[in-house]
Amino acid sequence: MKIGIIGAGFAGLAAADDLRQAGNEVVVFEAAAAVGGLAAGFRAQSWSAEIEKHYHHIFTTDTAVRKWLADLGLHQALEFRRVRTATLQEGGIRSLDSVMSLLRYQPLSWLGRWRMGLGLALLKFWPWGVQLDRFSAAAWIKPVMGAEVWQKIWRPLFVGKFGRFAEKINLAWFWARIVARSAELGYYQGGFGELARLIAAKLVTRGVKFHLKTPVESLNFDQTSFEVVTRLGREKFDQILVAAESGVAQKLLAPLVKTSAQKSWLAQTKKLQGLGAKTLVLELDRPFFRDATYWLNINESGWPFLAVVEQTQLTGRQKYAGHTIVYVAKYGETSGVRGQAWFGRTATDLLTEYTPYLKQLAPDFETHLINSWVFDAKFAQPLVFTNHRLLVPQIATPWPKVFWASMQQVYPWDRGINFAVAIGRTAAQAMLQE
Ligand SMILES: Cc1cc2nc3c(=O)[nH]c(=O)nc-3n(C[C@H](O)[C@H](O)[C@H](O)COP(=O)(O)OP(=O)(O)OC[C@H]3O[C@@H](n4cnc5c(N)ncnc54)[C@H](O)[C@@H]3O)c2cc1C
Repeated sequence: MKIGIIGAGFAGLAAADDLRQAGNEVVVFEAAAAVGGLAAGFRAQSWSAEIEKHYHHIFTTDTAVRKWLADLGLHQALEFRRVRTATLQEGGIRSLDSVMSLLRYQPLSWLGRWRMGLGLALLKFWPWGVQLDRFSAAAWIKPVMGAEVWQKIWRPLFVGKFGRFAEKINLAWFWARIVARSAELGYYQGGFGELARLIAAKLVTRGVKFHLKTPVESLNFDQTSFEVVTRLGREKFDQILVAAESGVAQKLLAPLVKTSAQKSWLAQTKKLQGLGAKTLVLELDRPFFRDATYWLNINESGWPFLAVVEQTQLTGRQKYAGHTIVYVAKYGETSGVRGQAWFGRTATDLLTEYTPYLKQLAPDFETHLINSWVFDAKFAQPLVFTNHRLLVPQIATPWPKVFWASMQQVYPWDRGINFAVAIGRTAAQAMLQE
């Protein structure tokens, strides 16, 4: 069979590997100039390696990607280490990444610390996560961990990440975040973009064909096969896998809607909502944090970003000319008046707005600033409200021979490289069984 894959993020790469290994002819079309999708990187001239455009790490629990890398013989450069996660609250930065640090966490009352610990333990050992999506996380946290814990710890994080949707996010998503988290975080030395390139190079030796800078413009269906239309012309395939978010799948499939099942697929997928991300990246000639913090959650109200991530605490500084790389993270809506105003902002705009806040964390950071960039991701985080399980789309679509694998089918787990690999491999199995 000849199979066309649209998208060379980790889902598309994983599917390509399995489909090729099963003896199919596989062609991957990628709109960008490089493989890796949202985990792709960039590189300043003085660096010897790339770093991701958006902060990335994996957990020790990310077994799908770890197993796949081991199978590919690419696991040696995946390194795990313990890093410091802290919280800015009431003007102070305090560790909040272990039972001991929670018990010492002064902004919470003693009762609050115990209730938060017990609530987290309850979630950690709860086996049936999907069923929890009947409740919103807020509606569960408030009575179980207490109003104080919601107000001081979780509400600022939910508002920082989900904005006006904070109170609507379901408990299954929160459960998955707690269950998947590990104390040690993993990074692929050289970057996840480099990892994607190494994987693609392996797949090329196995016979997979890649077309970069080749967005699929449209699909045509002629009863027996699909035709993919790109700048290179038209190419026929027996099966198609769309390995990108719902906007891409909708754009390609909407013109082919004929049956009522296809109409209802389109209507259902339009209900899937998400947020974009806008990440400011700073290069400094010395560490941003004085206390080796990797990840700082901002639990103060009114701050314009939700976290500051000193990525070189995880990656080391050696490959980046000895410099420090810091991400300043923010999610938000990308459409509507509110969204357009925010999403259109430049690195200079963001730096101007963020500087007074960043100075509260590192007063002289500006004198050590070498470079800054801003990177956008239009679809970065699915929004999952109560009963979201009823909306999760199938991998098989109502178009015969067309399949779809994206972060919107990863549920209740939060999107990530690991689950992109898992959904890509699941999609490949579904295609092979057809
Ligand atoms: C701010 C941020 C932080 C993150 N942090 C982490 C983290 O710490 N750990 C973690 O594991 N994950 C993290 N993620 C998530 C992770 O990057 C994604 O879940 C994962 O990379 C998704 O892979 P994918 O293959 O499903 O989709 P994508 O990476 O979105 O890949 C889809 C690909 O399809 C291509 N494409 C789109 N349209 C077309 C077309 N018409 N024709 C051809 N190609 C097309 C795109 O260019 C893209 O390369 C983060 C994401 C963001 C935005």
